Amino acid sequence: MSVKRTEVLTGPALWSAQAHFPSVLGRQLVIDRGEGSYVFTSDGRRLFDGTAGLWYANIGHGRAELAEAAYEQMRRLETYHIFGRFLNDRAVELGERLVGLSPIADAKVILNSGGSDAIDVACKLARRHWQLEGRASKTMILSREFAYHGLHAYGTSIAGLEINRVGYGTDSLVPETARVSTDDIEKVESTVHEIGAENIAALVAEPIQGTGGVITPAPGYLEGLQRICRENDILLVADEVITGFGRTGHMFATQRYHLEPDLIVFAKGVTSGYAPLGGVLVSPRLWQPFYRNSPDTPSFRHGTTYAGHATSSAVALRNLDILETDKLLPRVEELEQLLAHELAGLESREGVDATRVAGLLGGVTLAGQISAEAVTDELIEHGFIARPLRGNTVQFSPPFIATDDEIRAMVAALDSVIADHERR
Ligand code: PMP
Repeated sequence: MSVKRTEVLTGPALWSAQAHFPSVLGRQLVIDRGEGSYVFTSDGRRLFDGTAGLWYANIGHGRAELAEAAYEQMRRLETYHIFGRFLNDRAVELGERLVGLSPIADAKVILNSGGSDAIDVACKLARRHWQLEGRASKTMILSREFAYHGLHAYGTSIAGLEINRVGYGTDSLVPETARVSTDDIEKVESTVHEIGAENIAALVAEPIQGTGGVITPAPGYLEGLQRICRENDILLVADEVITGFGRTGHMFATQRYHLEPDLIVFAKGVTSGYAPLGGVLVSPRLWQPFYRNSPDTPSFRHGTTYAGHATSSAVALRNLDILETDKLLPRVEELEQLLAHELAGLESREGVDATRVAGLLGGVTLAGQISAEAVTDELIEHGFIARPLRGNTVQFSPPFIATDDEIRAMVAALDSVIADHERR
């Protein structure tokens, strides 16, 4: 009997993260250098980084000031861990700086290495909080349909993007999670009532859903979430991994939308991607019970080797300086207007279903017959990086240092690629 062999495709030795292997093998671009809003491939192409990498390169690529900050710190002390009785200067300084910027008054900050790490911290903290409050039945973590909260065990389990959950034990990897509607506040309310507020620890939400397709909040939705959380004693966790540090023209989207979360999760923009760093801003309501000077107070037993990494912290501090000195937040507000104006110009196209902009985050949903995957591939040929997301959406999230002309040229390139498809 002959056995039919499945063809096995392999690429380079590097098993690259998050790639859907068969769909990208042989088409991957090797990026070799970056300068400002541009990156260069190893075969010499110059591409405008219309997504700022994975929504992180906010101050642009290749900035010498950040390289210097890392160099100076490494020469002095690469890092020292912050376990037990140890701290390091840069982590302490970054903590002060972040708490100064935090929309949560009297916050404390927990540092680690990225967004997925920080999501784990936030969910564990939320559950522990209710135990300390003597309400141990409050264990469920709610999240929105189409949500992306990273790919550690918690992030996988609370993903609203089904594709990130399947294959891992959808409801058993981390049990006690549930999804709520992404735009209909009445449905959210009924889900909360079905589960019972006495069983719910927290609701985790991206103010603007990124990977789910640049979903800007429906009118009244975020206010509704805030009200439901308050009325039902549910902790609100704002996942600001994408929106934090200026992406919406405010330091945090929480400020733009007048939210009062109990926890804010951040990563990416805190260093503009120059070093791995993430963390959680923690409100007094949450941190106070852990600081009670009593032998009975259970501690929050959590920490990672690189929490408070000194070089990452030095890089973050210099990045935060640049956001201020280069006045990049007001610049994002200007660019938001321009991007919204330019994308609105595409709406008359047959090939375009809808466009959405909030801050320097843009999504263009294409009509069914035109694929976002094909369009973004063709945009590369025009010299622009954009990304296909769920819902046949093209994502734009350029660096804050982009010029008006570059934004216009990026949208013009999309316009011409779509026009080309409409003619086919
Ligand atoms: N939350 C959100 C909203 C994100 O967009 C991401 C990353 N794209 C994460 C969490 C996970 O962050 P990381 O990849 O740094 O672990």
